[in-house]
Amino acid sequence: MIWYPYEQMKTMKKPYEIIAAEGAYLYTQDTKLLDSISSWWSVIYGYHQPEITEAICKQAAKFSHVMLGGLTHKPVEELSGKLASWLPGDLDYCFFSDSGSVAVEVALKMALQYYVNRGENHRKTVLALHHAYHGDTFKAMAVGDDEDYHFVLQVYGDNPYVVHIPTDIASLEAAFDRYHDELNCFIVEPLLQGAGGMRMYDIAFLKRARELCDTYGVLLIFDEVATGFGRTGHRFVADVVLPDILVLGKGLTGGHIGHAVTVANQKVFAAFYDDAPEKALMHGPTFMGNALACAAAKAAVDLFDRLDVPSRVAHIEELTQRELAGFTDPRIREVRIMGGCACIEVYDAETLAGYQQFAYEHGVFARPFLKYLYSMVPYILTDDELVHIFSVMKEWFRQG
Ligand SMILES: *Cc1c(COP(=O)(O)O)cnc(C)c1O
Repeated sequence: MIWYPYEQMKTMKKPYEIIAAEGAYLYTQDTKLLDSISSWWSVIYGYHQPEITEAICKQAAKFSHVMLGGLTHKPVEELSGKLASWLPGDLDYCFFSDSGSVAVEVALKMALQYYVNRGENHRKTVLALHHAYHGDTFKAMAVGDDEDYHFVLQVYGDNPYVVHIPTDIASLEAAFDRYHDELNCFIVEPLLQGAGGMRMYDIAFLKRARELCDTYGVLLIFDEVATGFGRTGHRFVADVVLPDILVLGKGLTGGHIGHAVTVANQKVFAAFYDDAPEKALMHGPTFMGNALACAAAKAAVDLFDRLDVPSRVAHIEELTQRELAGFTDPRIREVRIMGGCACIEVYDAETLAGYQQFAYEHGVFARPFLKYLYSMVPYILTDDELVHIFSVMKEWFRQG
């Protein structure tokens, strides 16, 4: 049988069976559902997207996969070339992997070895944020800070070599003051913390972080697995504040095939580029640079520019503000909006019990978690579709 994610298998309700997916809609045997969360935020251009599907089919007719150890191919070369020229600054060195969690592991290993290669073995500690989520593999869990996901790690007691801080500048400065000579990196989900509860914070925090990282020689890592490709309203937050290492996943292939990339800048790459074999990055996921995934990703990246995603997201944000800003209910703690993300945080998780079925009956697929009712819509929605998603949310509070 299938063991489903984040579920108590004994009590979980039957999942909806999807028999087709097209554009912004998921189809079951009986009904169609407007998708409000883009399949965990990844299917940003909609399902069965024609250009991406065509790129996959074309490549599949040649070959689907060859390993990247000792081999290379056009799809991976075209994608890495495109990313190098398209991404900001000197973020030019692309290490591919099969999921966001693995790409985060690679980023953390790069940051550690960056210092080991320079003989600075005391730089063992990672600075991260309260409520951070960086994936479900072990080091990603360790730098994460969400007991709702990773409470099992508490059996290990204190988490050595990881320090968590809140998103205020005073705490940031205090942490650098105290830990700067043991830090190898500061990893953040920039501006928008997704799985930790759609928490939003100010760009000034990241600008100060960049300064402090420069002052103390600490590498700055942006985990833009969720925020990348327009979600915050920026193409990447990295366009505004430049990190040393950028992690992309989810929307990279338009959500059509799992793939991710850890992109390093020249400074990081140079610390590995040497005659000494032991200074190499000893890492290599079996399916890194998968040809189908690379072909899909190249088509998806081209689509980002062609659809002018930033102006679409600006429009989505404007409509979201119009529909949700100021919406209140005694059970609502806060309404937060940024780019293509909206979140209604309630005081008590019970308030959202039954919402998924309610949304289903109103033709919308949603998946609130804990105290968060949110949308992360595909960018291709019409205005009416977007308005419908928010009217279902508001109706839930009116009728309940
Ligand atoms: C989803 C997510 C990950 C993990 O990506 P997977 O592909 O699920 O392994 C890492 N970081 C952030 C910010 C994410 O949202």
